[in-house]
Amino acid sequence: MASDPLLCIQQETETIEVLRANDVKTYRISVAKGDGIGPEIVNSTLDVLDKLQAYYKQEVCIELKQVLVGWEAYNKFANSLPEESIRKMESVEGLILGPLSLGTYPPSDPGGPSPSGKIRKHFDLYANIRPTISYGFNKCYPKGKVDLVIVRENTEGFYADRNMFEGNGEFKPNRDVALSVRVINRESCRRVIRAAFELAKHRSGKVTAVHKGNVLKMTDGLFLEEFRNTAQQYSSIQVDDKIVDTMAYELVLHPERYDVIVTTNMYGDILTDEAAAIAGSLGLAPSLNAGENYAMAQAAHGSAPDIAGKGIANPLAEIMSLNMLLDWFAQRNNDVKLLQMSKTLRNALKGTIDNTETLTPDMGGKGTTVSITKLVIEKITEEVTKKNAKTMV
Ligand code: NAD
Repeated sequence: MASDPLLCIQQETETIEVLRANDVKTYRISVAKGDGIGPEIVNSTLDVLDKLQAYYKQEVCIELKQVLVGWEAYNKFANSLPEESIRKMESVEGLILGPLSLGTYPPSDPGGPSPSGKIRKHFDLYANIRPTISYGFNKCYPKGKVDLVIVRENTEGFYADRNMFEGNGEFKPNRDVALSVRVINRESCRRVIRAAFELAKHRSGKVTAVHKGNVLKMTDGLFLEEFRNTAQQYSSIQVDDKIVDTMAYELVLHPERYDVIVTTNMYGDILTDEAAAIAGSLGLAPSLNAGENYAMAQAAHGSAPDIAGKGIANPLAEIMSLNMLLDWFAQRNNDVKLLQMSKTLRNALKGTIDNTETLTPDMGGKGTTVSITKLVIEKITEEVTKKNAKTMV
């Protein structure tokens, strides 16, 4: 099992080259708050980041640039993903995206049904990394029993809005027939599978491929073929594969048997929501969408219109996603200071989850978005105080 469960792409501090003491690297991130509960949980995330920055201002600089995506953008520009927002996103290295009310934008919307899918495609964010931990909120899964990561291909598959060079992969030859084309590319399989193996090297060293190769012999067959090819290059990693329906069953019954699971787009989308039930709430389901040169922090859940505006949305999935983004930046830049900042956040999140009273209702508490955010911030202060006390000794 991974020793530090919220850190999904793990790397030991010791292996990172220490930057010169006076280097303060600047990271530029754009922020889109999204729809429904999006603004509530993204505001929490920014408050948390603000506090972290205040403590680490001598060491790390994070610049934020707000962009409009979703209904806010549509209301202003009649486009849920305006060119201007894409240009702003291109001018930075990463994005914090709030959940979007996908499928609710008018048919004429140039942003299409899924602006977040378009962003994933535009920045080639091919690996959607979604960790699941059992915190004990779901009584079937005691705290510490489950610690797995699902790595989902993010740019093609059944997602008709992003799997064609031009046009759409879903169409109706007549009123009564609808077709959807699923695209599976060897190279798309190869790179996402490689990402899963790299991840497994820093965890328990096991990867499971999920597919339906018994029926979808060509498409999932190709995925499996690439899985087996890649496995040969990672002799120390244990591998197995499961048919997706069996995996859905296994995930409920024996999730503790799995570590890194790699799969195609739609299977991954469905299995990760199932996995969130192991954590106890979608509000505990973070995700990082990672490409070669860009990454996006985005909670795995949707815009939760049923609780939007009530002040009870759980911001932890979005804050954990930020945590993953900070780790991603730190590793790419060999930035030990940012890694330390990210570790402070991770410890603060662990401390927060242990404090049952302040938790939001989805985790069984009576708290609010604001009260849990305050607690994360308090825990950050505690972590920094502890660290400073150690330095003084
Ligand atoms: P959802 O994930 O928004 O909500 C499912 C259930 O989980 C709801 O009961 C909701 O209240 C709860 N929930 C989700 N996040 C929570 C949080 N942070 N705190 C507490 N409770 C939380 O799924 P849905 O209702 O099927 O979809 C709503 C909208 O979100 C749809 O328009 C859908 O297309 C969209 N969606 C967007 C994304 C995304 O932007 N990445 C992902 C999934 C769904």
